[in-house]
Amino acid sequence: MDLYEYQGKQYFARFGIPTSPGGAADTVEEAVAQADAAGYPVVVKAQVKVGGRGKAGGIKLAADAEEARHHAQSILGMDIKGHVVHRLWVEHASDIAKEYYASFTLDRPNKLHLGMLSAEGGVEIEEVAATNPGAIARLSIDPTVGLDEETARRWVDEAKLDEEARDQAAQLLVRLYRCYVEGDCDLAEINPLILTTDGRVHALDAKVTLDENAAFRHPEWEEYADTSTDDERERMAKEKGLNYIGLSGSVGIIANGAGLAMSTLDVVNQVGGSAANFLDIGGGANADVMASALEVINADPAVRSIFVNIFGGITRVDEVAKGIIEALGRVDIRSPIVLRLDGTNAVAGRDLLAPHLSDRLVAEPTMLDAARRAVALAGN
Ligand code: GDP
Ligand code: MN
Repeated sequence: MDLYEYQGKQYFARFGIPTSPGGAADTVEEAVAQADAAGYPVVVKAQVKVGGRGKAGGIKLAADAEEARHHAQSILGMDIKGHVVHRLWVEHASDIAKEYYASFTLDRPNKLHLGMLSAEGGVEIEEVAATNPGAIARLSIDPTVGLDEETARRWVDEAKLDEEARDQAAQLLVRLYRCYVEGDCDLAEINPLILTTDGRVHALDAKVTLDENAAFRHPEWEEYADTSTDDERERMAKEKGLNYIGLSGSVGIIANGAGLAMSTLDVVNQVGGSAANFLDIGGGANADVMASALEVINADPAVRSIFVNIFGGITRVDEVAKGIIEALGRVDIRSPIVLRLDGTNAVAGRDLLAPHLSDRLVAEPTMLDAARRAVALAGN
């Protein structure tokens, strides 16, 4: 889960990482009030979950209330790479002497954490990596050892940050590492990390990605749940706890297991169709899960047919069949459903469903047959 810049900065603040004083605003009036409170000059910043806001015109300096009002007016409602700006962050503007880059992320293949630090910040780190890879000091951190201040200090030296920034930067990096680990982030990035003209080091931007697998130990993350931007279908699926990804085709897909769901997508494509979604109902799918799955797919107006592809293993097909029957009683499905049921207790499952079969609920013996039928019914 990605945080907005202002949420990232609030997250940083919990770990003692310095940022500029400021506040969020959803209207022009609120923005002016936040600017008055932060003290001029201020910077008015579009809150969208996409980088390069500066270049896109979503970040503007204002010397007084009139300018702040003007910028707030022009940035609210702006479209930045397909993201509409509904909220601003207004903070006291910094006098920048230098822009650096700092981040922590996971180095999966090596089972370590990776710190990246550069004296060349303010531009995309990919750009630095491409044009001047030597300017990025990488630090591998063993999660069982962590990052102490001496190591951070050597790292800062290696990255050749300006002498006067080094002590503060080392201290800040230790805090950023704590934020990354204790705060359960997949990514904690500051770009730019700045040295101000009066010799202070602080975070001017914040990019934080939280590891949703850790949500169980962070009840406070509730406030970050963002329902405004997601695909409506994905929002609904998430509410119902389903593993769902919306796609642009016309065949709705329900399968048990991510591998089977992906294979189902492939087979639908192979026979000339296109999938409307990816939906893995997982093992032990009961009537509730099946009903939720059908509801979400049913809510997608692009869906013309639904392909339910179940290969029973631990999941017993007779249980799935009961689920389908119960679900059909609960949900009024617009599209014809094609079933392919195989594996554990498949015969019992098919027997249960036999009396319910019609031209709206058909069964096919193999995955390929079922895919062809679903694609035909979708009108492809
Ligand atoms: P991004 O473009 O989405 O990464 O947004 P940032 O928050 O990183 O801001 C982009 C750029 O705007 C920074 O690299 C700075 O050059 C500039 N900027 C942002 N805040 C300030 C500020 O307080 N003072 C000054 N002078 N420039 C700022
Ligand atoms: Mn930035």
